[in-house]
Amino acid sequence: MRQQQTLSKSAFLSGIGLHSGSLGSIAIHPAPVNTGVIFVKQVGDHIASCPATIQYLGQTDHCTTLQSGDFKVQTVEHILSALAGLEIDNAYVEVQGNEIPAADGSAAPFVQILEDAGLVLQEEPRSYIKIIQPIHIEDGQKSISVLPSALPRISYFIDFPHPLIQQQDYQHSCTPQEFTRNIAAARTFAFRQEVEFLWSRGLGLGGSLNNTVVFSESGLVNSDELRFSNECVRHKVLDLVGDLSLIGFPIIGHFKAKRTGHLLHTKLVQAILNNPDKWITLNAGHIEKSDILNRTATASGTRALMELQPAFLSV
Ligand SMILES: [Zn+2]
Repeated sequence: MRQQQTLSKSAFLSGIGLHSGSLGSIAIHPAPVNTGVIFVKQVGDHIASCPATIQYLGQTDHCTTLQSGDFKVQTVEHILSALAGLEIDNAYVEVQGNEIPAADGSAAPFVQILEDAGLVLQEEPRSYIKIIQPIHIEDGQKSISVLPSALPRISYFIDFPHPLIQQQDYQHSCTPQEFTRNIAAARTFAFRQEVEFLWSRGLGLGGSLNNTVVFSESGLVNSDELRFSNECVRHKVLDLVGDLSLIGFPIIGHFKAKRTGHLLHTKLVQAILNNPDKWITLNAGHIEKSDILNRTATASGTRALMELQPAFLSV
């Protein structure tokens, strides 16, 4: 039985937001057991909060956005991936601005600051969702499924008609060591025509060759090389790890994704919630399925947040 984890101390990062192009900062703080991940922001004299769960999902067009009331936070997928990839259950992510910094377009800078801060085991066991019957979603050539499996696993397949990508297949065993070594450093990628179109619509304003791998018609626009020959499919796994964390608990199942992205990833999370007969909870203690289905900030999490308030740093 694994214990829940949080950070030993707060971790900080600043940088440009991929879509807004403006400078933002985050501080990731330790949080008590059963809090989950909650985005928080100082608004006047109070703290606005938004749990990182599917119930607060906003749009998924080019990035994942969470929204609660008038607090919206954009581009949460890579920090959520770092937290889930390292098996950090509980954290407050304090945001200055409305977007998580893009960093280098991967999850590695987030992993770095989290590892530097250090992780600490907490007094309660971690709860899991265990898939007992398959769930499948498809949309034309795109599909995603989850099947029963003894251990968490991801199989991802992509197919782009570009000489540097073509067909890529990746198997990820979902351990923190595998995530850190093989997934975290894979960067966001885009095609030159797509980037030019985004800029013409006023999107992707913070996008640059420092945080995006841009493919030209037959090669790479970036002057540096790919970090892995199959960096694209590894980044898709990174995105899926972050999007799946929106269910609020780690899932034991075998995910099989083909040619897909944030929209179908999050539809699968919703489909899991919509089919509670296809999974069970493990080590859930006092947590009921209905709590998972309607998960909001827990009472203990909210109380601790109020206690934390004076200690929040202006980052
Ligand atoms: Zn991504």
